[in-house]
Amino acid sequence: MTSSAVIEKELSDLRSKCTSQIEGSEVITCHPAQIRVQITKTKYKKLVVCLQFPADGYPSNAIVIEIKSKTIPERLCNGFTTICDAEAKKLCGKPHVLDILLFIRKFLDDNPFTVCSDELAFIKKELITDNDEIKTKQKAGVITLHLKVQEYFVKLKCKVPNEYPEHPISVELDDSNFPGLFKTMFVAQATELARRRVQPPLKKPKPGEPPFEPKPSLRHVVEYLVKDCIRRFPVLPCPVCKERAFPKKPEHVINDPKSGRHVEWMYCGHVYHHGCVDAYMKIPPFTGGKKCPDCGKRIYHDKWNIAPKLSEDRWAHEQARQREIDEVVEFLS
Ligand SMILES: [Zn+2]
Ligand SMILES: [Zn+2]
Repeated sequence: MTSSAVIEKELSDLRSKCTSQIEGSEVITCHPAQIRVQITKTKYKKLVVCLQFPADGYPSNAIVIEIKSKTIPERLCNGFTTICDAEAKKLCGKPHVLDILLFIRKFLDDNPFTVCSDELAFIKKELITDNDEIKTKQKAGVITLHLKVQEYFVKLKCKVPNEYPEHPISVELDDSNFPGLFKTMFVAQATELARRRVQPPLKKPKPGEPPFEPKPSLRHVVEYLVKDCIRRFPVLPCPVCKERAFPKKPEHVINDPKSGRHVEWMYCGHVYHHGCVDAYMKIPPFTGGKKCPDCGKRIYHDKWNIAPKLSEDRWAHEQARQREIDEVVEFLS
């Protein structure tokens, strides 16, 4: 067969077989001068493959490949084009348009991180230190993080779903020596943050405000967990006594919520000794609610959910009782 006869046959094969053989594919142009096929896995995993037959001697010379995408970073598309060129070279000698398109579709299936490669690069560069470990399981879309701060550690698993970024990442805690409450809260907070990235708030947008768009959640959630929680808490002072709220040795962590050295996580993001916050909540001023000495935000916590008026009354009662005791002590001495 002459080269042009081979090309004609390939183009007709492409028209009749492409959509049925390559999931999510759509032939845009099918012409001896150029082939353009769009391959869609999800709204964000979508690319256009441009193929050009070599000037002479197809299929003994490889087809020329270019990959473009609006959602996958250019850097990644270029790298992937290089891999495809190598694959095309291996297939020289027989027609290889459909094989190359199948290879590209498989790449989309096997690499769920294509849509978050920039976020992943940021995490590796900015959030992970030499002490930490990060592992990625491409096919499963799972990122495992092992973070260490002083003697504390957290092992986390982040799963990037197929429909990412329209669906949020999920976070699981594999192991940690943080206090129990913190372990639960890390996952709860991360899940909530990720959800808010993709679900519109209940409040309708004001007129003129742009409609809600789902946003990528991976970098956002990992950055919060690493910077605002895991690296911060073990060395953060208790706002009342100014000593570290966490014990230096994780084995001294107290999981009894009534113990004075039990660590409480407040809504403002500060951590207190249970005994310190308990005492602090009982002394005035109470007007407008008790405020965090370190950030000035009002202290909200289920355990100290007392109205300012009631605290005032209790304080007055406590003071009166103390005066009575003092008078008796004075009288007796
Ligand atoms: Zn304290
Ligand atoms: Zn605070």
